Order: sequence, then structure tokens, then C-alpha cells
Amino acid sequence: MIWNAQHESMDRDKLAKIQADRLCELVDRLYRKVPFYRRRMEEHGVKPADIGGLSDLTRLPFLTKDDMREVYPLKLLAVDPGELVEVHTSSGTTGKPVVDAYTRKDIATWSEAMARTLAMGDTSRGDTVHNAYGYGLFTGGLGVHYGARLIGANVIPISGGNTSRQLTVLRDFRSTVLTCTPSYSLYLAEAGHEQGVDFAKLALRVGLFGAEPWSEGMRREIEEKLHVKALDIYGLTEIIGPGVASECEYQDGLHICEDLFYPEIIDPDTGEALPDGTKGELVFTTLTKEGTPMLRYRTRDVTYLNREPCRCGRTAVRMHRLLGRTDDMLIIRGVNVFPSQIEEVLLKIEGIEPHYQLLIERREQLDSIEVRVEMNERLFSDEIKNLERMERKISEALHAALGIHSRVKLVEPKSIPRSEGKAQRVVDRRKG
Ligand SMILES: [Zn+2]
Repeated sequence: MIWNAQHESMDRDKLAKIQADRLCELVDRLYRKVPFYRRRMEEHGVKPADIGGLSDLTRLPFLTKDDMREVYPLKLLAVDPGELVEVHTSSGTTGKPVVDAYTRKDIATWSEAMARTLAMGDTSRGDTVHNAYGYGLFTGGLGVHYGARLIGANVIPISGGNTSRQLTVLRDFRSTVLTCTPSYSLYLAEAGHEQGVDFAKLALRVGLFGAEPWSEGMRREIEEKLHVKALDIYGLTEIIGPGVASECEYQDGLHICEDLFYPEIIDPDTGEALPDGTKGELVFTTLTKEGTPMLRYRTRDVTYLNREPCRCGRTAVRMHRLLGRTDDMLIIRGVNVFPSQIEEVLLKIEGIEPHYQLLIERREQLDSIEVRVEMNERLFSDEIKNLERMERKISEALHAALGIHSRVKLVEPKSIPRSEGKAQRVVDRRKG
């Protein structure tokens, strides 16, 4: 089901015209109302009159994660503070939190974007959405909530945590749609298995999973263990929260709500725009946002764009599922590798569970990576020499696929710490 066919399946020339008009209006508004943006444009030697269309976008300055510290809490505000109806922030674990301040219209935009996302999983009236994203300052919980409410679905605002209660509620209320992080869905499956919950007998049909990068291998695991169709969804606090992009039923890239959020791909080192199909850093401009608009915001997420028509009938550009982040890209002895690529290799190997941790150290000036991965019960009961053979096999598979030498250590089932939010996959002990 397409929630808003008029916008999601719009003729691309017509769409480009709307995007261009919205961009020009935005730049003019930011120049007049936000001293921070005005100063940036002046430093960059560009004025609103220089921006006549989308091709002029690259003349505008970027906004970076570092800038977000400078503008904390509300220096990007483009409306009278009395217009605000809600504020969300990121967790701020790596510095000052990022703030998104919403007007009434921004909440309506967010609800619309999330309704499009939920509809990609065929969510409609009559569905029950088990929403295990955290409610609070984090955007996940309320974002899903607003979208489901706009559609007219029944929402269970269970939020994160208390896994045993989650399982009871899933069963008793016959939830049909699950929303949470992909790693938490596997945790639910595992806990359910221990408590005798048969996922095949639940009413769950589809799961919308996001807020952390995950792989095709992990999708297969989730679909098998939870008996759902697993769709990847994407969003970030800076832009609006969840609802920026989502996979349709064909699971072949995430359609971006590009009439609302204009995407670019750039070379993270030079800032140069890159053509479709080329991997680089994803940049967004919020075309209609009122409260805290973002102009060319560098997400640090790495992906590429695809403008080919999709079988679902949507014309909106697709981004490939996240390949990683420019800041979690690991450089191991000069080789660039993302944790998600390691995951992809691991999950193709029989006997391995989708729980792993990467330990990176520097010894005598050389980087070393240890991949700790859980084996299943059957492999665990095997002979030591078979385990050693398995460790060698995994190490060789990683080398063949990614060109890195790693030490692989099989660990006991359930010995890697579980997370109820985003999984902690990498422990980097290198100094400096
Ligand atoms: Zn599609």
C-alpha cells in the first residue's frame, strides 16, 4: 500500500520543481531568521538570490555534527519559541545532544513521513503496532506512535525493556506489526524461545527495524526466527526522527521521502558531490521543516543512491541500506571495513549465532582485530579440534571477503552481552 501516492509516486520532473521551490524558500527563510545560517552563508560568499534551483545547492555550506555543539540548544531555531510544541534530543553520549524542535506543522510532517514508512509494511486500520522503540527524548517511540495514529492503527506504546512483559503483550494483544531495533528483535526471539513462546503462532506479520546498521544476513535471521517480513527503516533526530526513508515490500533499498528531505551523496574527504551509485556520505536538507531546519546536514552515514523506478510503483529515490558510518568505519592496517561487512560474512557460516563483538588493539604499532562470535549449542558441544578448524575457516572467510587478517575466537552461547537498545559491536582499545 502506498500512503501518499501523489508524492511518493510523483513524476520526477514535477518532483524536482517542488524540491527547487522549497529549497529557494528555505534558504531565504534561514538567511532572514537564523543568524547562524546567515553568518555561514556570508562566510561562504553566497546569498539567497544566488540560489535559483537544485543545481545551486552545492554552493551552500555544510552543517556538521561538530556545528551541532555550537548551536546547542536552540541556535538553529527559525520560528518564534512560542510556535514550538515538542522537543527531542539525541542521547548525547558523544558530546552535546543534538536537538530537534518541532512546530505543530513539523509534527504533522513527521506523522506523514512515518505513516508512509508504516504503510510500506502494509500497516492500516485494524493493525496492532507493538512499538518497542523507547518513548521519551529519543525520537523512535513517538515517531512510530504519530505515524500509526495518523493511519488509524492501534498502537501499543510498550517502549523498550522488560522483555518478558513484551512477550506476554505480543501474544495477548495479537500484535501484527513490530517496531524496535534489529538487535532487540533477535533478543526478543531468543528470550521467547526460552520462555516457550512460539513466534509462528503469534499474529506478527511484519517488523520495521532501524536505529542501527544491520545486514542482509541479520534480516534472514530475524525473518526466520520471528516469522515476519523484516523491513529496514531509517531516520535521525537531526532531520526529523524515524520516517526519513524506508524499504518497501521489495526490500531493495530505502525510499527517501524526498519531497520533504532532499538527499545528496558526497565524498567525505573532499565534500564533492558524487553521482548515483557511488558510495559516500549521506547529506540531507530538510525542505519543509519550520522549527530547526537543517541545510546540507552531513549525517556521517555511508550509502549510495538509486533513481531507477521501483517495482512497487514509487518513484522516490532509494538509498542502499546503510553500509556504516564515516566514524565507525574501522581502519585495520590500512584496510577500510565496516562492522556490518564483518557481520555479513559471519552470518553466512553455519553454526554461528548473530551475536559478535570486535576487539581492536594496537600491539607494537600494528592493529590487530579479534572477532568474538557465539557458536550455537550444537557446535558448542563439538570437539575442540573441530572448533579450531571452525575458527580458521571463519578467519579465512573474513580474509577472502574483506582483506583483513583477524583472530577469531568462538565463545559460548549467550556469553556476548545483549543490548535492549543499540548493540555495542566494537571495542576499540587503540589509543589516539
Ligand atoms: Zn519500492
